[in-house]
Amino acid sequence: MADLDSSVKYLKGVGPKRAELFAKLGINTVRDLIYHLPRSYIDFTSPVPIASAVLDEVNIVEAEVVAKERPAMIRRGMTIYRLLATDGSDDLTVTIFNSQYMFDSLKVGEKYIFCGKVSGNLTRREMSSPTVLKSTDKDRIQPLYPLTAGLTQNILRNCMKSALACASSEKTETLPESLVKKCRLMPESEALQKIHFPAEREDVFPARRRLAFDELLTLRLGMMRLRERSRSLTAYPMKKTDLDGFVSALPFRLTGAQTRAISECMADMEKPVPMNRLILGDVGSGKTAVAAACCYMAAKNGVQSVLMAPTEILAQQHYASLKAFLEPSGVKVGLLTGSLTKKKKAEISEAASKGEYDVIVGTHALFQESAGYGRLGLVITDEQHRFGVAQRSALAKKGQDPHRLVMSATPIPRTLALMIYGELDISVLDELPKGRKKVETYAVTGKLRSRACAFVRKELDAGGQAYVVCPAVEEGAADVKNATAYAEELENGEFSGYRIGLLHGQLQPAKKEEVMRRFKDGEIDVLVCTTVVEVGVDVPNATVIMVENADRFGLSQLHQLRGRVGRGSRSSYCILITDNPSSESRKRLKILCSTSDGFEISEADLELRGPGNFFGSAQHGLPPLKIADLAADTELVSLAQEAAELIGEKLSLPEFSALRKRVDSLFSGGEI
Ligand code: ADP
Ligand code: MG
Repeated sequence: MADLDSSVKYLKGVGPKRAELFAKLGINTVRDLIYHLPRSYIDFTSPVPIASAVLDEVNIVEAEVVAKERPAMIRRGMTIYRLLATDGSDDLTVTIFNSQYMFDSLKVGEKYIFCGKVSGNLTRREMSSPTVLKSTDKDRIQPLYPLTAGLTQNILRNCMKSALACASSEKTETLPESLVKKCRLMPESEALQKIHFPAEREDVFPARRRLAFDELLTLRLGMMRLRERSRSLTAYPMKKTDLDGFVSALPFRLTGAQTRAISECMADMEKPVPMNRLILGDVGSGKTAVAAACCYMAAKNGVQSVLMAPTEILAQQHYASLKAFLEPSGVKVGLLTGSLTKKKKAEISEAASKGEYDVIVGTHALFQESAGYGRLGLVITDEQHRFGVAQRSALAKKGQDPHRLVMSATPIPRTLALMIYGELDISVLDELPKGRKKVETYAVTGKLRSRACAFVRKELDAGGQAYVVCPAVEEGAADVKNATAYAEELENGEFSGYRIGLLHGQLQPAKKEEVMRRFKDGEIDVLVCTTVVEVGVDVPNATVIMVENADRFGLSQLHQLRGRVGRGSRSSYCILITDNPSSESRKRLKILCSTSDGFEISEADLELRGPGNFFGSAQHGLPPLKIADLAADTELVSLAQEAAELIGEKLSLPEFSALRKRVDSLFSGGEI
């Protein structure tokens, strides 16, 4: 008999031909097959009397076949088979197209359950092409699987039964009984059986819960292992550093949260193992200053730091901030971006490797291609989206295990952060600098656009600047405001006489930079842009942001956008324009109007959109989850986290060998 790790082709009823079809579904081993879960079920458990079947809807009835008509060939290749069934309440004419096999298998005098749309009238009931089950069949709830051409539900069900038979002959419980009890889990073999062939509807939930738990636990343990692994590396331990020089040069006082995060980082960097820390903070919570403090410490210890930003604009800006924070205390900062000339790039790289800079700021892409630096001790990344785990570890290999700090762009709930950034330690910046005013937020329909524009003009006349954000650059759906055309429209209409700038992703880097600089220097009044400005751009004089087609953005994204204003001392405003009348859309925008807490918003966003969409098309870099849903399974996420903590180092004990094997194979695709 095949075991769980053997190829599906050895499974009864499969063979090499079908194995190829299975491969298309990502199923190679028997185990893969078992984890090919139903997308839904047909429930044959509660048939209704034929007489009370709802016309033109799918009904399930149980009836005895009483007569079969002679097949009628209505044209070439189309034969109709009819039979009559009754359940005592009424008769039902069942029509089957072309399947002689099915017709022959239905026997007069036997009872069946029929599922299908019932049509007819008060006196005559009909069902065409039903799904049929023998009354004696015990699997009254039938799984429906994702399929591929050449495979049918029946084939899949039969193969699944053989696969489950293999599973039941092996010991499939991967968890110790105490843990199964403690977490109120269904035993694993039972869960596998019941997720495919539940005896009743109520079986599905606990079965799924168990399998999702396993998946989350494995993921968490995998993350913990990565974390442990990085702790076995050696890093350059830094000496305790007095930050007075840094702090006194800052133009503001650090918040309590910033101070706490900085001490956590400093304590990490004093150790001989590399720091691996995430700074999780809301928009405007001041993550850059924390990064700067770390660079300061590194510089005072004679090692270099790099800060990598996801975009050119952000790199520019981080460079400006770090320069302002660090140069007064004698720390030298350099900038290395793609838009520099080849010669200039070479010069800076050269100077960096000679140690003429303490800190180099640049874009991710650039660092990935450049060689390491002489005394690289600290790598800071500002992440727009989470990097893949494998990608991240590749970066770390560049230097000789530098300390690493990651700045998140999106505040996410802590439980989720633990899952997604599980290989990192986390510092949360849960406090905004004092004196930040709440950005007044309004959601309005397009009808109020000209009033909104009048409001924006008032802000401009008072000396402020404005962002106008559109979702797309190129001519897309007719209702999507095209940034280029829209900029022109505004220039000739609502904002004629004001200085309009245009910024979008397709501009040349040098052009982008110039536009951004002009906006920063107050040479542009209204910046019409796409989401290039989403992350981190800092122009304190901008007091209003107007977002077109706001319903097309995610909530967290809108929150990021809103974070572009409210950075100075004046009151600031965010106007969200939408013509989407759906209550869903209104509900979402209402959340933004009612709170300015990024963590709260991301939680709501996650609930509404699910994690895949939440993180945008760039994934969250985790191995794919087949069963669990990070957004919906919050209870399970916490439970799995607790269980993982309990297991901890015991994972190496024999009782966890099956679980350990699973953790081993978790990242087998990526290079770790
Ligand atoms: P984010 O966490 O969104 O990256 P930034 O680091 O860009 O935030 O900081 C946002 C703004 O707040 C910047 O202009 C920065 O100079 C300023 N800032 C940072 N920390 C403080 C503080 N403790 N007090 C006042 N302003 C601060
Ligand atoms: Mg930032």
